[in-house]
Amino acid sequence: MSKPRVATTSLAGCFGCHMSLLDIDERILQLIELVDFDRSPIDDIKHISQRCAVGLVEGGCCNEENVHVLHEFRENCDVLISFGDCATMGGIPAMRNNIPLEECINEAYRDGPTVYNPEGIVPQDPEIPLLLNKVYPCHEVVKIDYFLPGCPPSADTLWAALTALLTDKPVELPYELLKYD
Ligand code: SF4
Repeated sequence: MSKPRVATTSLAGCFGCHMSLLDIDERILQLIELVDFDRSPIDDIKHISQRCAVGLVEGGCCNEENVHVLHEFRENCDVLISFGDCATMGGIPAMRNNIPLEECINEAYRDGPTVYNPEGIVPQDPEIPLLLNKVYPCHEVVKIDYFLPGCPPSADTLWAALTALLTDKPVELPYELLKYD
């Protein structure tokens, strides 16, 4: 019998949430018994190849490619999970939301104290995804089924949520898995 498939992606995130997923340590062997991985930085598959039971999204949307990938996940995953504060709230990348985009670009490419760019050229190669006017949490772009907060959510939190979903049990996260003090 074929196993359910899981896809994961990192949008505007730092990969810390994926590091936390790998922190399940030896339980990754149990996870591999339970699922097959589809698109994920873990296996470097670039596009979802088959319908997935669960999609895990790290990071919000800061550019047009993030939006494209997020739609790919929504269209191909039965259950879509935002994991980590960047995905659920925008997180650190969303700190730019109070600053006009032009000002951010000038700071990064022209005026920043460590920038050397005498001609003031801003990269505009068509291969570079266009920046959005602000950073959006995933649920402002597509419907999200579950939210796992934390920076990052702990490995135990991710394990509890994933194994519940994959075994058709309710996702019940006790206080110990959601406290950050
Ligand atoms: Fe990195 Fe934290 Fe954002 Fe996860 S929530 S991608 S660990 S900054």
